[in-house]
Amino acid sequence: MGQDRVYNFAAGPACIPENVLKQAQEELLNYRGSGRSVLELSHRSKLFEGILADAQSSLRKLLNIPDNYKILFFQGGGTGQFAAVPLNLMGLSPSKSADYIVTGNWSQKAAEEAAKYGKVNIVCDTKATKYTEVPSRDQWKLNPDASYVYYCANETVYGVEFQEQFDSTIPIVCDASSNFLSRQLDVSKLGVLYAGAQKNSGTSGVTVVIIREDLIKTPLPETPTVLSYKIFAENNSLYNTPPTYPIYIAQLVYRWLLDLGGLPEMERINVEKSKAVYDVIDSSDFYRCPVKKDSRSRMNVVFRLPDTDLEKKFLEEAGKRNMVELNGHRSVGGIRVSLYNSMPLEPTNMLADFMREFMDKHKR
Ligand code: PLP
Repeated sequence: MGQDRVYNFAAGPACIPENVLKQAQEELLNYRGSGRSVLELSHRSKLFEGILADAQSSLRKLLNIPDNYKILFFQGGGTGQFAAVPLNLMGLSPSKSADYIVTGNWSQKAAEEAAKYGKVNIVCDTKATKYTEVPSRDQWKLNPDASYVYYCANETVYGVEFQEQFDSTIPIVCDASSNFLSRQLDVSKLGVLYAGAQKNSGTSGVTVVIIREDLIKTPLPETPTVLSYKIFAENNSLYNTPPTYPIYIAQLVYRWLLDLGGLPEMERINVEKSKAVYDVIDSSDFYRCPVKKDSRSRMNVVFRLPDTDLEKKFLEEAGKRNMVELNGHRSVGGIRVSLYNSMPLEPTNMLADFMREFMDKHKR
């Protein structure tokens, strides 16, 4: 790690691979001899077109995205997609309805937003478990006349992650914002996948949408142009000025992932990292993870200590060792360790060692 840099376990915007930051730094003033910063490139320039095309082809390679899927880049974040999904897809069936699987606050918010534009069927809600598990396939029944079924692959606040994909006869929409590119995924099982870049694949400002072409239809009439899948697909995400710099950073991250060995290797590392932390949690009853073992997130490991004073002390002492942003989401408290792709194994092991040390010192 470079001098003066801390170990950033933030839930997002999160750390970015150091190689990527260095390359971005080098290219900041003069991009590939153009005499201009990447920040100064016109989105209509050949140079930026090259960045966009490379981002799309690298992502296609990483996820093995079939040819009948389009890759689009939007602004507006995950929250923008909470509206874009129903606006673009509710009209796919005459019922103008959609099924939502609610496993935490993000899928809950998405369902609330969708209800502004059509009928939302909550086919499953794990609120009664305090969002500590993902439901199994037999816990919900989909409506065959719904336009799509929506789920959030990883609930960032509660640390709950679907371990497997599921099948459905209606198109599946997946919010993969907080586990995008962290594990292998069969895109062909999905109708739409979207992900904000600020956790696993770059910085805030751009949201990737991967969509099966036959689902790109005329959206509801009130759809803002900047959220229209149809208009963005027809214009290769260049209808208006795209978030050029975040797309550039995402391109560098995709290339970094390809160089690393692609998603099989990234997944192997992510399994090892999360295991290092969960093993400490499970080795005593000092730390307590509320999430059911088979639903635990590899990306956001949440846990509690015996009391809130100890949690405060834990955060303070971790901070003294340059390990920062370990606090749980403000709505739930506790500790949250975010282990996105860019967090290397070594600092993760350092954190696990610190957790053991802290436990030995403070357990009663
Ligand atoms: N979906 C998930 C899983 C998230 O974690 C977040 C934010 O953290 C969002 C959606 C909302 O994204 P944004 O803040 O980019 O609107």
